[in-house]
Amino acid sequence: MIPTETLLRSKSFGRAKRVRELSLKEPRIPLKSLVPAQRSWARLAHFNGRLDRGTQSMLRFIKHTGIVVGALSVLVFFCIYIGARYPASRPLTEAEKELAHSIYGDQIRLDSVRIAPDSIYSIDVSKTIGDTIHIRTADYNSDLSYKTLLIHELGHVWQYQNGGWGYIPKSLVVQFVAFSQTGSTSAAYNWEEDFLKGTPWEKLNPEQQAESIAEYFYYREIGGGQELKRQLECFIPFLRNNSCE
Ligand SMILES: [Zn+2]
Repeated sequence: MIPTETLLRSKSFGRAKRVRELSLKEPRIPLKSLVPAQRSWARLAHFNGRLDRGTQSMLRFIKHTGIVVGALSVLVFFCIYIGARYPASRPLTEAEKELAHSIYGDQIRLDSVRIAPDSIYSIDVSKTIGDTIHIRTADYNSDLSYKTLLIHELGHVWQYQNGGWGYIPKSLVVQFVAFSQTGSTSAAYNWEEDFLKGTPWEKLNPEQQAESIAEYFYYREIGGGQELKRQLECFIPFLRNNSCE
C-alpha cells in the first residue's frame, strides 16, 4: 500500500481513479504530514484524520492557494524593495531641498530622499515608495506644477519616515474604492469635504494629506486664497503657528 503522505505529494493524486480509491479506503492521515495552512484548517474544521473526497479537495485547494498567495507576497515585497532602492535615481538638488524645507522643515530627512524620473514604477502615475519618488515627467508641464507635484510626493515620504509602510496599502485601498465607485481615483484625493466637516488632518487618508499640503504650497506660491491658506496652516500639524489658537 502506498503511504498517504506519498499519495498527497504524488502527481497522480488528482486523477479520478486514485481519488476514487482513496475515497473508498478513507485512509487516516497524520496532522504532521500537512503543510502549516492545511494544519490550521484541519484544526478549525475539527478534521478527524479521515481523507475522504471532500477533504482531499479542500487540502489541495488550501495548498495551491497558499502557494499562489506566497508567490504573490514575495513578488510584492521584491517590487517594493527595488522601488525603494531604485538604482537609476538621484538625490534632491539643493534647490529641491530648499523647497522641501520651506514646507516640511526638519520633518523629513531630505538626504535620504531620491528622485527616479520616468522609472518603470511611474508608467501610469507618479509614485513614492519609501524614500524614493518615482516622478512621471508627463504629470507636470511647468515649474510650478513640478514643484506642487514634488511637494505632494514628499508628503508620502513624510508619511513613510513618520509612520512606516502603512501609507502604501491605505493609499491603494482608497484609490481602488474611489475608482470602483466613480470610475476615477480623484475622489481619494478630495480633502476639502473632510476639512469642512472638521475631520482632523491626522485622520485623512494618505492621498488627502499629501494633496492638502500640495494645495497649501500652491496657494502660497501664487499668493492667492489667503483665508484658505491661513486655515490650512492651522489644519496641517507641522505648519501650525502662534495664530492658530
Ligand atoms: Zn499621492
